[in-house]
Amino acid sequence: MTSEEFRRHGRRVVDWIADYYDRVEGFPVQSTVTPGEVYAGLPPHPPEQGEPFADVLADLERVVLPGITHWQHPGFFGYFPANASFPAILGDLLSSGLGVQGMLWATSPAGTELETLTLDWLAELLGLPPAFRSTGTGGGVIQDTASSSVLVALVAALHRTSGGASGHVGVTGQYRVYCSQAAHSAVEKAVRIAGVGSDNLRLVDVDPVTQALRPDHLGALIEADQAAGVVPVLVVATVGSTSTTAFDPVAAIGELCRASGAWLHVDAAYAGVAAVCPELRWVNDGVACADSYATNPHKWLLTNFDCDAFYVADRATLVGALSVLPEYLRNTATASGAVIDYRDWQIPLGRRFRALKLWCVLRWYGAEGLRAHLRGHVALAQEFAALVAADERFEVMAPHPLALVCFRLRGVDQPNEALLARLNAGGRIFLTHTRVNGAYTLRLAIGSPLTQETHVRHAWQLIRDSA
Ligand SMILES: *Cc1c(COP(=O)(O)O)cnc(C)c1O
Repeated sequence: MTSEEFRRHGRRVVDWIADYYDRVEGFPVQSTVTPGEVYAGLPPHPPEQGEPFADVLADLERVVLPGITHWQHPGFFGYFPANASFPAILGDLLSSGLGVQGMLWATSPAGTELETLTLDWLAELLGLPPAFRSTGTGGGVIQDTASSSVLVALVAALHRTSGGASGHVGVTGQYRVYCSQAAHSAVEKAVRIAGVGSDNLRLVDVDPVTQALRPDHLGALIEADQAAGVVPVLVVATVGSTSTTAFDPVAAIGELCRASGAWLHVDAAYAGVAAVCPELRWVNDGVACADSYATNPHKWLLTNFDCDAFYVADRATLVGALSVLPEYLRNTATASGAVIDYRDWQIPLGRRFRALKLWCVLRWYGAEGLRAHLRGHVALAQEFAALVAADERFEVMAPHPLALVCFRLRGVDQPNEALLARLNAGGRIFLTHTRVNGAYTLRLAIGSPLTQETHVRHAWQLIRDSA
């Protein structure tokens, strides 16, 4: 493809994307294809001769689009949002256009320094402690996901606990990891991958009303483990749980970590970005005592997947855990010690220039624009929760300080399961579910940049009328 052809097809692709947003509301939110339908809709063999780009776009429209669940649809209320925005899309395009691989500072200095700056900006916007800035003892790095951040935190914690014995995970049963029953499944995945093993993950009880980790139970578990000669290595505190946006008491957990020597990782994947709004800054209360912290601009901060902001208070421990320097990567900049090599802050060697999209978002919206985006959704969620609470057939199941509302029909589970199936089959809205204290519960998470008050009111009408 010549640069002239790229200009032509590129304009068509940009137009296609813009048109997609203009018409997205007309599609059923959830794809209705059956398993295998997309696969069967395309040729089973790769083309021997190159094909016109227009044919690719035609297949995109004909086969791919019906197989898309429209996460940017204003009626998408499932899971947590995966925000996209035009400035982020443009930033991603620029990243593709530059085509750099930023494993080392030396492989593209701007790739590293723009990421350092952008994460310092984000730390300032979120009011994170000074240690998490590059100007302090730690710093930020973009990981692909919050799941990777938990794993990286665990590897750093093992490194610290084992006194810097690199790669030492000890014998099974030597180390323990703790998180609440409401923590994300990424914690169990991390203990499996790191070789600590699921058997060494302790699930801490939660308060039945707030769903937050009970520090008294955490303290008892740690004490019993220490008495048995087992070493607490990591505690994951959740700030805004996936199920209900529960907030673990980070400061109290931090006390227990300090006393036991365990690393404290704060998983604020969804909720952390809310701290851009001063009135929501409480979400990050207590993180000054954390060893690491992660939040996902790719959920609710208008930045296309993937973009997880991971911060550590002590970068030396992280780099000590992950740095392996083979001859073919040696260079004078690294040897000088004056630069960051982000390959030492993550699991893979190679890395995309993801800072560009976050930088584009922060510059386009500014702090004010980001606050307006978040506040709009919080207000809509409060309005929705009030509508649910005013209908005596329903009950609200958990506190809802942000933009997720958990609710159900009073009584047994089955009518709730049937209600969710009916709503999602209708194609106008899409919700997912969880269990709260064992009860089947519907989740309505507001987060699409296109969602307006009319969409939320319409969603409530559909729910009320389908119940
Ligand atoms: C969504 C979520 C995750 C997982 O996020 P990924 O970035 O997809 O790995 C982890 N923790 C919490 C609390 C979440 O809500």
